Amino acid sequence: MSTLNPWDVARAQFFEAADFMGLDEGYRKILAHPKRELIVHFPVQMDDGRVEVFTGYRVQHNIARGPAKGGIRFAPDVNLDEVRALAMWMTWKTAVVNIPYGGAKGGVRVDPHRLSPRELERLTRRFATEISILIGPERDIPAPDVNTNPQVMAWIMDTYSMHKGYSVPGVVTGKPVEIGGSKGRLEATALGSFYATLEALKRKNLPIEGARVSIQGFGNAGQYAARIFSGAGARIVAVSDSRGGVVNPKGLDVQRLLEVKKNEGTVVAYEDGEKVGPADVLEVDCDILIPAALENQITKDNADKIQAKVVVEAANGPTTPEADRILHERGVLVLPDILANAGGVTVSYFEWVQDLYSFFWDHARVREELRKVMERAFHQVFDKVEHLNVHPRLAAYVLAIERVVEAIKIRGIYP
Ligand code: NAD
Repeated sequence: MSTLNPWDVARAQFFEAADFMGLDEGYRKILAHPKRELIVHFPVQMDDGRVEVFTGYRVQHNIARGPAKGGIRFAPDVNLDEVRALAMWMTWKTAVVNIPYGGAKGGVRVDPHRLSPRELERLTRRFATEISILIGPERDIPAPDVNTNPQVMAWIMDTYSMHKGYSVPGVVTGKPVEIGGSKGRLEATALGSFYATLEALKRKNLPIEGARVSIQGFGNAGQYAARIFSGAGARIVAVSDSRGGVVNPKGLDVQRLLEVKKNEGTVVAYEDGEKVGPADVLEVDCDILIPAALENQITKDNADKIQAKVVVEAANGPTTPEADRILHERGVLVLPDILANAGGVTVSYFEWVQDLYSFFWDHARVREELRKVMERAFHQVFDKVEHLNVHPRLAAYVLAIERVVEAIKIRGIYP
């Protein structure tokens, strides 16, 4: 769709908030730049004996409030500007939900679907080694993102631990529970989005029962969103993945969708519905739209065709600034990514806390602590919406920037 550079988008969002707040020029300069950027080019031996060289990134945007935190994605078009944007968004996200972390992100330019499992493992272990000069439980803690999963996190944890000579579970989150992962991490992003949506629906006087939901992206965030929203009585009317989408105003059977996705690799194979393109689900008639795929999906070209009353940004950066303005003018309530998808990093934080204490919580406790964090963040953001009379993204940015700037101010500028 759009070719907008995500780093330009992230900085534009920051500058809009900084201008609005009248932010001091010095803090503005600090926060407009990432703190550290590592680019690595590294060889991987392929199964047929060839050597391929891959490029990877780890960017730490800010660590004033605590260790850097952010996912790692494997995708063919990953680039430095995308990783910078995602790292900056992590700084704001951890601040909005008020967990003691800074912001980081990483990525490798690779199409992991073209690799064998052994190649994927070698690539992951080598990348983990390359970025081991930055990561660590007190320094920078990666997590899953697009095309990475608990197995990939397990390889990173094992590689880092092999170098240290002892197990270091707290170096990554999103691990399998058998090696120090948290219960509830897999569904955390979607469940956090759900808790935030429930609060938003209360404000719009809309019930969750019978609400029509459309979801773009059917990976970790999208699949769990489908399960959780339908489990609460909502009707999933459209879903898509990178190969296309399926629409049925009467509702899609989520169990069947999950089976079809697992067996055929795409939701397009779902039998009972109209086949559409990957982005068409954004424009279908629905109450709640959940973009859960990639950046720059809602742009000035389609923002006036969005029919949803509430947009829940499970994805990072799905809405461009121009589209944001159009949606706001049209009265569409947008739950911004730095609030709406913060459930993932919040349960990652719970996982890290459990690892450091070696004391593990049950599922009910994870869900309850997550609900408290999401509801608190939602109300703090919407108090700002009301006091400042601004749209929710700007309110969330102001809240986050205030918290990060306060930390920098208290610590002072070294030396
Ligand atoms: P994933 O790799 O599990 O799934 C991504 C999904 O998007 C896949 O179904 C893929 O087919 C689909 N997709 C890709 N391009 C598409 C397109 N053009 N149109 C429609 N669908 C498309 O990734 P994920 O972990 O679910 O992440 C999805 C989004 O959520 C990303 O923006 C990510 O940064 C964000 N996010 C994820 C987490 C998490 O904990 N997993 C946390 C916060 C934010």
